[in-house]
Amino acid sequence: MINAAPASRPVHAPMDQFAVDGGELLVDGIKLSTLAARVGSTPFYAYSRALLRQRVAELRAALPRQIKLHYAMKANPMPAVVQFMAGLVDGIDVASAGELKVALDAGADPAEISFAGPGKRDPELRQSVASGVLVNVESMRELPVLARASQELGLPARVAIRVNPDFELKGSGMKMGGGPKQFGLDAELVPEALLFAAREGLAFEGFHLFAGSQNLRADSICEAQLKSYELALRLAEHARTPVKFLNLGGGFGIPYFPGETRLDLAPIGANLQAIVARAASELPEAGIVVELGRYLVGEAGLYVTRVVDRKISRGQVYLVCDGGLNHQLAASGNFGQVVRKNYPVGVFPVRGDAREPSMVVGPLCTPLDLLADRLALPEGQVGDLVVVFQSGAYGASSSPQAFLGHPPVVEVLV
Ligand SMILES: *Cc1c(COP(=O)(O)O)cnc(C)c1O
Repeated sequence: MINAAPASRPVHAPMDQFAVDGGELLVDGIKLSTLAARVGSTPFYAYSRALLRQRVAELRAALPRQIKLHYAMKANPMPAVVQFMAGLVDGIDVASAGELKVALDAGADPAEISFAGPGKRDPELRQSVASGVLVNVESMRELPVLARASQELGLPARVAIRVNPDFELKGSGMKMGGGPKQFGLDAELVPEALLFAAREGLAFEGFHLFAGSQNLRADSICEAQLKSYELALRLAEHARTPVKFLNLGGGFGIPYFPGETRLDLAPIGANLQAIVARAASELPEAGIVVELGRYLVGEAGLYVTRVVDRKISRGQVYLVCDGGLNHQLAASGNFGQVVRKNYPVGVFPVRGDAREPSMVVGPLCTPLDLLADRLALPEGQVGDLVVVFQSGAYGASSSPQAFLGHPPVVEVLV
C-alpha cells in the first residue's frame, strides 16, 4: 500500500493550563479578547502570574525542601517577570551585566544572585564583585581579573567554579557538557583554579554544573544530577574551604512538539532526596541549587497575534498575522530546530467543532516566517486572535525584532 496511514499521529500535549470558556481563552480569568483590548494593540506576549505561582508551588511540593530553586532569567528577562519570580524563588541566575542590573532592580538579594556565562568582560566581573554576587567562573582568565577587582574594591570576590564535566547529559536538546566546550573549566583544570583562588584570597564557595537544556526525560536528568554531584564531591577534595554552594544545573524541559509529554517530577524529587541525604554527611555546608529557566516560565506565556488576512492559495488556507518570527523566532523553527515542527497554536474565539489544515504565517517577506504548518485549526477569520502556547521562555528577547521594521512586541504580566 502506498498511502498507508501512520498508526497513530503524534499530537501536542493538551494546553490545559489555560481554561477555555464559551470559545474564549482565559488568561488568569480574563477573556483573551478583553486582554487584547486592554493591551491596546497586537501582537503581544502575555504571562500569567497564577501559572508562574502554580509552577513554583508544584516544584516545591515535588522536590526536597532543602533544594534551592533559582530562576535563570535569560529565559524571560521582562523586568516585571523577574521581579515577580524574585519573590517566589530562592535566587536569580544572570548571564550578563545587563541581566544583573534587572535582577538587582527587581530587589533580588545579591547574596542569592549568581552570574554565569562565557566571555565575561572585565567591567562585568568588576560590577559583580561590587554587587556582592557569586561569579560562576568559566575560564582561568577570569580569576586574576576577579582578584584585581577584589583588591581595588576591598571586597572579596565570591566565586564558584563552573565545571565542564567529562560526561554528557543524554537526551537533551542542547548539549553543554562533555568534550571541549566554551562553558566552564574542564574538570581537570579545577585543582589549579582552586589553588589560584586560595592564593589570591578569593572567596571560594562551590561548584556549578550545567549539563544541558530542554530535557523531557526524568531518568537522564537524574543521572546527570547524580554524576554532577559525584564529580563535585571529587573536586571538593582539592578545595581548601568547605563547599557552601552546589548548583546541579537544571535542564527541565516542557513539551513543545507533537508526541512530547510533560516531565515527571516524582523521580527527580526522589533522586534529589537521595543526593540531599548524602550531602548531609559528605558536603555538610553545601546549599544545593537547581537552576531553571523555561520550566518555570515557558508554559505560563502566550504569544498573541491577530489575523490580518485569510487567504486561500490553490486550496490551502493561509492565516496571515500581524506578527511572526520577528517576535516568536522559536515557534517559526529557526531557533535551533533541525527539522521544523509546529508549536501548539490555537485560534480564538473557537466558533465550532470544524477544523481545517491551516498555514499560519507572519507579515515578513520571507518563507521562514511560519508559525504553523498545515495544523488542524478552527476556521480562522480576519480579526481573530492566533495564540502560540509555550511562549513564556525564549520569546521576545530571543527574536530578531528589528528584522523588517515592524513595531516591537508588547509584553504584559497578567
Ligand atoms: C540557559 C541556561 C539555563 C536555563 O536553561 P533552561 O533550559 O531555560 O532551563 C540555566 N543555566 C545556565 C547556565 C544556562 O546557560
